[in-house]
Amino acid sequence: MDITTRVKEIFQTLHAIPEVGFNEHKTAAYLAAELGKAGYQIRTGIGGTGITGVLDSGVPGPVIGLRADMDALAHTVDGVEKCVHSCGHDAHCAMVLAAAEVLAEKPPAKGKLKIVFQPAEEKLDGALSMIKSGAVDDLEILFGIHLRPIQEAKSGQATPALYHGASYIATAAIKGAPAHGARPHLGINAIDAATAVVGAINAIHLNPADSWSVKTTKLHAGGPTLNAIPDLAEMAFDLRAQSNAAMDALLAKLPQTIENAAAAIGATADVQIRGGVPAAEYDAGLTAIAGEAIRAVLGEAGLLAPIITPGGEDFHYFTQKIPGLRSAYIGLGCNLTPGLHHPDMTFDTDALPQGVAILLEAVRRASS
Ligand SMILES: [Zn+2]
Ligand SMILES: [Zn+2]
Repeated sequence: MDITTRVKEIFQTLHAIPEVGFNEHKTAAYLAAELGKAGYQIRTGIGGTGITGVLDSGVPGPVIGLRADMDALAHTVDGVEKCVHSCGHDAHCAMVLAAAEVLAEKPPAKGKLKIVFQPAEEKLDGALSMIKSGAVDDLEILFGIHLRPIQEAKSGQATPALYHGASYIATAAIKGAPAHGARPHLGINAIDAATAVVGAINAIHLNPADSWSVKTTKLHAGGPTLNAIPDLAEMAFDLRAQSNAAMDALLAKLPQTIENAAAAIGATADVQIRGGVPAAEYDAGLTAIAGEAIRAVLGEAGLLAPIITPGGEDFHYFTQKIPGLRSAYIGLGCNLTPGLHHPDMTFDTDALPQGVAILLEAVRRASS
């Protein structure tokens, strides 16, 4: 079977069985079975539903990985909740599996190939759960790929570097003291403290040359009694930065800013960092290889410049948490409309064999 027919066949199979994060049981079973048939040593159930497939040349050399995410998204369409592959993760798995099958027939002469199918990218902790299991510690080189909306890349175009930003969520519980509305001096108004916090958050400054932002996204205070001083305010904050250094600086400033602003009113603050994802940090050499691979498949006109996107991706945990791992992440144009995470998302499936060819070229160049 030719590559175009095969990758489209895999895509159709996965597209028909969308499953949300950590619930990708049918998807994982299918991918593991196909990888096994191709000759890979399979491990399943990694960090939930994750899979690895290894092809060992037996000759010392780099461990090169191809990673795809398996999960779909829940959408409400016409009042009915259903699961849809609206972020194209079915396409990513199809391209990586089809590439893995070709590589099994013509493997690199040295090192190991490691295929990584991860759960729960949309929940932003699927990559972390696989990393924590230790099953991907040996990766030295890792390529990822994601479909791009038509506004960023059209069919026949691809970028060798998709720069996702870092994004984190924090919350704070502001505690004051209750009192009668007639005697505010006997209490501590949590709303006064919370508004002081909003002002202090807006007065945080990092180097304007870096791209970053922090803002209050929730302020909930006061109960059913409207003539009493409220003693509790619940707050949330959204943090963004295009570099991990800027995000580290924001995360370091945030708790003291909130605590000190609340303390100015006499209140206390319990600050929690609820989680997030790091920013993209790519290896220049591998990005160059990804660019050469794109040029080889799509021609000079198809090679786009790096794309900066404010969205987050948990792929970057692999690079951040695995010492020495170098990564590159390709964005594939495919006339995708109306957009990612839209329940009616569609794209030109003729881009799938192009994605497979780019991955194969990238692995060939990285292993030689
Ligand atoms: Zn998504
Ligand atoms: Zn996605």
